Amino acid sequence: MLIRKNLPIDNTFQLNSVAEYGAGISSHDDYLEVLSFRKKHRVGLKVVGEGSNIIPRRSVQGLVVKMIRTGISQLEDGDDTVLVEVSAGENWNDFVFFALEKGWYGLENLVKIPGSVGAAPIQNIGAYGAEVADFIEYVLVWDADGKERTLSRDECLFGYRSSIFQRDSELTVAGVGLRLGKIPKLNISYPDVSSALSGRPESSITPEIVASKIAEIRAAKLPDPKSYPNVGSFFKNPLIDEADAERLSGIGITVFSQDSGYKISAAELIDRAGCKDLADQHVYCWPKQPLVLINKSAISSSEVSAFAERVRSIVLEKFRIHLNYEPKFFG
Ligand SMILES: Cc1cc2nc3c(=O)[nH]c(=O)nc-3n(C[C@H](O)[C@H](O)[C@H](O)COP(=O)(O)OP(=O)(O)OC[C@H]3O[C@@H](n4cnc5c(N)ncnc54)[C@H](O)[C@@H]3O)c2cc1C
Repeated sequence: MLIRKNLPIDNTFQLNSVAEYGAGISSHDDYLEVLSFRKKHRVGLKVVGEGSNIIPRRSVQGLVVKMIRTGISQLEDGDDTVLVEVSAGENWNDFVFFALEKGWYGLENLVKIPGSVGAAPIQNIGAYGAEVADFIEYVLVWDADGKERTLSRDECLFGYRSSIFQRDSELTVAGVGLRLGKIPKLNISYPDVSSALSGRPESSITPEIVASKIAEIRAAKLPDPKSYPNVGSFFKNPLIDEADAERLSGIGITVFSQDSGYKISAAELIDRAGCKDLADQHVYCWPKQPLVLINKSAISSSEVSAFAERVRSIVLEKFRIHLNYEPKFFG
């Protein structure tokens, strides 16, 4: 493995960013080499995937490694389910289609989410009523001492766009063990999905149809980062307590009740706060989905955070709700 100086960090927000040292990790031996380089040069270590959820600074000190370990192994083949271990450097969407072709079901609602398999557990990727945590049996990690360990699903402490990996940045995800169904079990109650499928008899709906409808909905709603640089949702949907739920539903904000409390839509707050068409010289809100920010001409992460802070403070002033960022400011 080659550790190079001044390596550009790819990112879908298309910011210019360079790591002091950079390398691609394709094996555990590469990882051990990275750890000894880190020790010898006394530098920090950060792991990235495909850069679709980071806002990197112009110059990132230390060592930034990209996980490029690939491989898919079927570990169990039961009557109703399979257990598959997928290496962190595999592309998430390619794996979703690979699984569908194999007749391994469950991931169809998570189609077309950009990025790597290794990053999927970091923020517990989710869309259209599903989360990757629903399918994770374990996560294979390499720790700061170079040891390989498996964390069970419970140990990963998954929540809405959160996991233990956001708290413990010393864990590198090397692979993910996914338990998938051999018998389709459709999850089509999410409003956009059910309305796109309305009129079809339920017995005629297959996981492949669900995946292609969700891919169509996403293409219509979300900007392609190649033409409109973005990181998907910039803000998380706020989780709120009962008092805020009552206060906000009283002024017409939609409040979703869930097992652990209440959730509201960040897009609705941004829209109702009048930020739907907000723009500055460098960054703007995507009008069809205003929680997506688009990079028009920003070069540095500080230009991005200035705009994001502006949206956040308008929403805070109007609704007394603090929006949290979804992407990681990196560096
Ligand atoms: C157009 C668009 C649409 C999107 N839609 C969705 C969506 O519907 N739902 C959703 O949840 N997300 C969505 N996202 C966000 C993004 O796709 C996910 O967060 C994805 O998992 C990021 O993968 P990545 O490989 O690009 O990670 P990166 O951006 O490279 O990294 C993200 C974070 O994970 C850490 N990380 C990455 N790999 C590892 C590893 N192997 N070990 C340890 N830490 C690691 C990084 O340090 C960083 O903190 C969208 C993004 C875009 C651009």
